[in-house]
Amino acid sequence: MPLMAEIRSPRLLMEECGRYTAQLSELRTLLEERLRAARAERARTRDVAAIEAALERMDQGLYGTCTRCEVLLPLDRLRRAPHVQQCAACAGETRMSA
Ligand SMILES: [Zn+2]
Repeated sequence: MPLMAEIRSPRLLMEECGRYTAQLSELRTLLEERLRAARAERARTRDVAAIEAALERMDQGLYGTCTRCEVLLPLDRLRRAPHVQQCAACAGETRMSA
């Protein structure tokens, strides 16, 4: 199926785009809050590094895709654990428990 067939109208495309942008900014806020909290609590360096890496991926426009298989990560997974940048299968989870 050609790509254009999935885009039903420019208005829908703009709505999709707006939704995506809003979700990204919501997740960025979540990440920044967690980063502040992790630093304040002197959390494990590994946790801070994971959050910083996720923010870096966001700046590069790569955020929200699995770092191993590049599948799009589900929004509910990102909301639960915004720093996790692997899908459940690649992260070795048997269930969606991130
Ligand atoms: Zn994956």
